[in-house]
Amino acid sequence: MAIEPRAGILDIRPYKPGATDAPGIANPIKLSSNENALGCSDKAAAAFEASKANLHLYPDGGATKLREAIAREEGLEAEHIVCGTGSDELLQLLGRAYLNPGDKVVQSQYGFLVYRLVAMQCGATLVSAPETDYRSDVDAIIAAAGDDARIVFLANPNNPTGTYISSDEVRRLRDALPSTTLLVVDAAYAEFVDEADYTAGIELARERDDVIVTRTFSKIHGLAAARLGWAYGSSAIIDVLNRVRGPFNVNMPAIEAGTAAIADRDFMQRSAEHNEEWVKYLRQQIGGMGLEVTPSVCNFVLIHFPETTGKTAADADAFLTSQGLIIRPVQPYGLPNALRATVGTETENRLLVEALGQFMAG
Ligand SMILES: *Cc1c(COP(=O)(O)O)cnc(C)c1O
Repeated sequence: MAIEPRAGILDIRPYKPGATDAPGIANPIKLSSNENALGCSDKAAAAFEASKANLHLYPDGGATKLREAIAREEGLEAEHIVCGTGSDELLQLLGRAYLNPGDKVVQSQYGFLVYRLVAMQCGATLVSAPETDYRSDVDAIIAAAGDDARIVFLANPNNPTGTYISSDEVRRLRDALPSTTLLVVDAAYAEFVDEADYTAGIELARERDDVIVTRTFSKIHGLAAARLGWAYGSSAIIDVLNRVRGPFNVNMPAIEAGTAAIADRDFMQRSAEHNEEWVKYLRQQIGGMGLEVTPSVCNFVLIHFPETTGKTAADADAFLTSQGLIIRPVQPYGLPNALRATVGTETENRLLVEALGQFMAG
């Protein structure tokens, strides 16, 4: 008989990353994981390469060099930053540190799937607040949280919808939650957002000790493979995270690559500009085919398909895969009629539009 894990663990459906292959196709185009179309900074790649000389040494457990680089570039205090193996790890650590079995965790209806995993791993109960037009609804989140939520996870902007709420709305949410509720603002796509009423929430985390903001190197910095993220919060929360994380949770090549990446503002700007141009193209072109595309401030678009036989999201997914184009079904998010497509290179974006056009005309 198998050794029994803790209650609830076997109810977890393991996270399924975006597909990487299309049967029978040698070099498919992968637009399924919101990776950076431009790759990563050359300086980050060079730093990673150079790090091989020291592979036999343990990394600095405090990732000091990286925290100081982040602090310098983002105008923050290094002692209020903790780094993780992807922001994913930081989200898990928040659960480990703050959730007891039976606690209530709140997310928005189409919130990032990792929040559900975190809640389930900790035996907590996940409550989803309904969205309006695929956008987080602050009043619904406040109602769902009531006076006893332990953690509210807010992806701003959110994946897979690509929508955001204003910094005023985030502040209104924080003000309405009890001080016993931790607000986690996951700002994985913050650097792509160029809207006057948006901020990543850093200022809120600086003012209050019940807010933490998580960020990632996987998107604008194009370092998804290095697994690197960071969180900014009060001394109290950072202290807690430092107690529950592994002593060497961030590896040295990632520290080196991340330190170079965060200083390469030129690469970040080029990534943001590329995205702005092509996310608009995808929305216009795909919208022009009669498909609804949710307005996105991220490096992906959520495309809604009809339920007509032959034209469903599943049909589109199968057709695109047969053409060597891999995008992301979002059924696990409760969006069976939609697909999520990452912004690719110019060539990739044009191929996607062409293939979708063929599918719709077919
Ligand atoms: C991609 C993404 C992340 C980043 O995860 P990493 O573990 O840092 O790669 C976090 N949150 C959301 C909503 C994302 O889409």
